[in-house]
Amino acid sequence: MRILMHERWKCIGCGACAAVAPDFWEMSDDGNADLIDCKKEDVDEGIKETRQIQDKDVDENQNAADSCPVECIHVNDED
Ligand code: SF4
Repeated sequence: MRILMHERWKCIGCGACAAVAPDFWEMSDDGNADLIDCKKEDVDEGIKETRQIQDKDVDENQNAADSCPVECIHVNDED
């Protein structure tokens, strides 16, 4: 398992993540992306979204991270 994380306050709503990995990312009514089925936390900077993903889903989400122009998607090892 890995941890997928979105620094939502950095999102500029380009839609790339939702195009590359639509099972995990969708565009919200406010114009920014949401990580589907995530846990949302209020941090100092804004909303941080996290969820676990399986190893088979790493490549798809790494593609989303690589597509993000503001580098606000992260695929991390579990703590
Ligand atoms: S690719 Fe990045 S900036 Fe674009 S919608 Fe997704 S999270 Fe936001």
